[in-house]
Amino acid sequence: MAKDKKIPLDEITKALMQGNFVFYYQPIISLLSGKVCGAEALIRWLHPDGSVIPASLFIPLAEETGFITEITQTMLPKFMADVTAIHRSYPSLTFAFNVSARDLVTTGFADDIIRVIQEHQIDPRKLRVEITETQILIPNVEIQKAILALDKFGVQIDIDDFGSGYSSIALIRDLPVSALKIDQGFVSRIFKSERNAQIVRHTINLAHQLEISSIGEGVETQEVFDFLLCFGCDYAQGYYFSMPLPLSNFLEFLSQEHRWTTPPVGFIHLALQDHIDWRRDFVRETLSLITLQDEKLKQTAYERIPNLDPQKCLLGKWYDGAGQEYRGKATFDQIGIEHRKLHQTANHLEESVRAGASKKEKIVQLIWSLNRHSDKLLVLLQEFHTDIALKYKKLA
Ligand code: C2E
Ligand code: CA
Ligand code: CA
Repeated sequence: MAKDKKIPLDEITKALMQGNFVFYYQPIISLLSGKVCGAEALIRWLHPDGSVIPASLFIPLAEETGFITEITQTMLPKFMADVTAIHRSYPSLTFAFNVSARDLVTTGFADDIIRVIQEHQIDPRKLRVEITETQILIPNVEIQKAILALDKFGVQIDIDDFGSGYSSIALIRDLPVSALKIDQGFVSRIFKSERNAQIVRHTINLAHQLEISSIGEGVETQEVFDFLLCFGCDYAQGYYFSMPLPLSNFLEFLSQEHRWTTPPVGFIHLALQDHIDWRRDFVRETLSLITLQDEKLKQTAYERIPNLDPQKCLLGKWYDGAGQEYRGKATFDQIGIEHRKLHQTANHLEESVRAGASKKEKIVQLIWSLNRHSDKLLVLLQEFHTDIALKYKKLA
């Protein structure tokens, strides 16, 4: 079929009835492990003339007319059957499927998905629903209800094409989102416009601070992959790794056990930033506690003090989690020691503040002591970051 031909709806309907739609699977790569950690299901029309028609040529019309809900209803069991088949050999992989706003406003849609998942006995945490940002811009109670029900069941909710709409921030405030999929338009233009690059960087940061994942899609070159890696993006997807593949080819791809080199340069840099943020917040709240008179305001300041447990601040979570692969390396171990000392000082400081204003001198002394630990920690983190970056570029 000619690529530019406008496909009428009755042909799409016929194709669905004749079972000519299948899913292709595009691998998603974890930038933590460098390995495939799942895939996105993308619908394809296998035309009887032998051509494979991509989603972009018929999904927009199906969405416009509402026929998309028929497609989703018919294709969901096929998706679950594919996932079941893949999980037989690769049970840890996570699979994403796209739903449209039309699906989400259909009464009973979430219940239908949940039922199909249960019938196939798939772990819901291994499934992700992708919802395009522009489609859920309009606040809609039905959409919200469906998303909450899916989240409660354990399915992860990803915002697709993040950045392409206008109320992205409100969306992540109001909905239980697991990941931001950065719009391809931004990712592919990283090196064409500095503003674009900044938006990608800050979206990764935003996701990180909200403790949700970031996924860069439309990665076509080593340079873009490198950029995402250096800025701490969690996952990536695109032609650079693989095209969307028919099920059998996807299984073959998995069996080849591809592994990309993904040194954690970006994650270390984020840890460094996390510490700077933590110190700013801690010092700000501590100083305002010393000066505030109003008990209510004091209480709010206490509540805003960042986490004093070295295992619960963002740096600590990285250190005890992904960072642990470096345990035993001198700089890394030293980071752990300095980090604990810093938290000890912070705890003393907080106790002194709680004890009252009579100890102002002690408080100032402790703030300087906190600073010294913080400076040491920053130097160590920078050293660690540079070391990993140099090794990555084979310069060390
Ligand atoms: P999407 O969800 O943003 O999917 C990504 C699209 O980008 C896919 O096009 C994919 O083939 C393509 N792509 C992947 N990597 C690259 C890359 O490195 N460079 C470039 N230029 N493109 C890349 P596709 O499959 O034609 O799908 C288009 C859109 O149709 C999807 O955008 C999604 O919104 C929708 N869609 C696809 N499958 C389904 C489905 O089963 N249900 C629904 N409701 N929508 C679907
Ligand atoms: Ca998608
Ligand atoms: Ca997308």
